[in-house]
Amino acid sequence: WRDPLCEAFIEGAESIGIPRNPDYNGAYQEGTSYVQRTATGKLRMSSARAFLKPARNRSNLHVITNAHATKILLDGKRAIGVAYNRGGANGRPDQVYAGREVIIAGGTINSPQLLQLSGIGPGKLLNELGIEVRHELSGVGENLRDHYGTRLTARAKNVKTINELARGPKLVGEIAKYFLGRRSILELGPTLVYCFWHSDETVRNADLQVSFTPASYKEGLQAWLDDEPGFTLATWQQRPESL
Ligand SMILES: Cc1cc2nc3c(=O)[nH]c(=O)nc-3n(C[C@H](O)[C@H](O)[C@H](O)COP(=O)(O)OP(=O)(O)OC[C@H]3O[C@@H](n4cnc5c(N)ncnc54)[C@H](O)[C@@H]3O)c2cc1C
Repeated sequence: WRDPLCEAFIEGAESIGIPRNPDYNGAYQEGTSYVQRTATGKLRMSSARAFLKPARNRSNLHVITNAHATKILLDGKRAIGVAYNRGGANGRPDQVYAGREVIIAGGTINSPQLLQLSGIGPGKLLNELGIEVRHELSGVGENLRDHYGTRLTARAKNVKTINELARGPKLVGEIAKYFLGRRSILELGPTLVYCFWHSDETVRNADLQVSFTPASYKEGLQAWLDDEPGFTLATWQQRPESL
């Protein structure tokens, strides 16, 4: 999806020294890029469909769904398996052992929670909660950082934006184009362009992110596109220092 407003944003960034980057998931992140999506042809895919489904028949892959991990099993300080409840949080307790390694991927909140429930974390806190300390590690659960994001919107003139294409007869046209295999707004995610940059020349750690999309919401509303053509920039600090 190449769009005149997106190109104007990218060219504006170039004019102040921020280059185009063909792959922000590649060797370096900084620069402006069209947003990448997980898709097969025109169909957007979930991670499960894109990566897990093709590997489902591997003999060394066994997926247990609706399993609630309750504890990492340890041999001394080495993780050797996971205790879980089969069938959900109140399901039947079971255990699984690792041939090589245990990878915890429970997300921002639940990964440190599972570590703490397993006795890995700040000793004082675990003692207060009545959890046996297996590995004293003071940082576990102490570093949640939240970033504040600002959204800036503006009306646009003499250019087509997603706002007008997403309603009435034009939307019917977009749906038809999608099924005819032509360029359509139905293929798009919520953001079209990313820009990563740094606030400090000496650090250059891509601590700033700006996203751009040729669409805008009605004032004060989250999910209603504006009636007039418009565009949106969202900006945030990637690595906030306050906890
Ligand atoms: C509003 C929002 C917008 C974002 N936008 C972007 C973006 O534009 N670009 C970007 O790169 N990132 C973005 N992120 C961040 C991105 O979503 C996360 O970094 C990413 O999803 C983390 O993946 P994960 O697999 O580590 O964890 P998650 O996707 O959080 O998955 C963790 C899974 O573990 C499960 N789980 C938790 N506890 C247990 C347990 N005890 N037993 C069993 N299962 C458990 C959860 O149910 C969940 O399914 C955004 C996040 C949010 C909230």
